[in-house]
Amino acid sequence: MTSEFGLIQRHFSRATPGAVLGVGDDCALLQPATGMQLAVSTDTLVADVHFFADADPEKLGWKSLAVNLSDLAAMGAAPRWATLALTLPEVDDDWLAAFATGLYRCADQFGVSLVGGDTTRGALSLTLTILGEVPPNQALRRDGAQAGDEIWVSGTLGDAALALAALHGRVNLTDADLITLAARLYTPTPRVELGLALRGLARSAIDVSDGLLADLGHILARSGVGAIVEYTHLPLGEIVHDYAAHPEFDACVLSGGDDYELCFTAPVAHRKALGEIAARLGVRLTAIGSIRAEPGLIVRDAQGQVLDMRHTGYDHFSA
Ligand code: ADP
Ligand code: MG
Repeated sequence: MTSEFGLIQRHFSRATPGAVLGVGDDCALLQPATGMQLAVSTDTLVADVHFFADADPEKLGWKSLAVNLSDLAAMGAAPRWATLALTLPEVDDDWLAAFATGLYRCADQFGVSLVGGDTTRGALSLTLTILGEVPPNQALRRDGAQAGDEIWVSGTLGDAALALAALHGRVNLTDADLITLAARLYTPTPRVELGLALRGLARSAIDVSDGLLADLGHILARSGVGAIVEYTHLPLGEIVHDYAAHPEFDACVLSGGDDYELCFTAPVAHRKALGEIAARLGVRLTAIGSIRAEPGLIVRDAQGQVLDMRHTGYDHFSA
């Protein structure tokens, strides 16, 4: 086994122009811009829990950073720095090189410097901590939703969950469709630019990592409000749309994780501004319902009938 030092030197010691001091000392030194608040978040991906142990390492590198960036996006924070805690069963240089390639590709695309970390031996697990900046009082929090707000979702829902259902053999997809959806599962695009654009417009926000109902439920709980979601307004990609009659459909769209879209609430008065943001960023934004004072999260169909959502695996209706 090569030394931990050699491993870090070879794979995780690229230049860190965004830091005063990066990898190599006891600590990294970081200089936040004057007056900015730091937004900090950590996510761990464990082999066989969050990803298949034999997953493509380059995609894993991308995803491990992307899921952290999604949390920053959901706060309206601008990404700056990351640290990586790696636990590896063995040193496999080819695996590490591919993992680092994916990680740095994501880092470069979103302006993040990898400034430090830790490396240990054990069952494969990846922990990323991300740091970003946001001006005081402009962060998009979970606790700001107000009755009358519209509820919005970026992109489309259920793509990653349908890919996972296919990989687990519960759904049959054509090879071409599986490739398209698997890209959503393995290389999600964090909505960083959207998060920044929503500062001053959205009253609350969260990223959809655990499924729409669960994540919107967090906004409702923290804000002390309830919501009505219109089933027919949910934004679907073409492939997911074709599976509308499949028994897995509702679970994928309403409770499926890993989409990393943003769910946010905003006053109706901001509808036009949100439309302009969608056009400028080339991101689909869809109003899916509204916040109300009465607690609870209900989904209703085109006829206004309240739908029973227990078959989706979502069971906590009270906010
Ligand atoms: P220490 O014993 O002081 O914790 P380490 O030997 O763990 O130091 O790490 C040496 C340097 O390499 C530190 O700057 C640390 O942040 C960095 N580092 C260690 N592992 C990683 C990693 N997986 N990715 C990026 N930087 C790392
Ligand atoms: Mg260490």
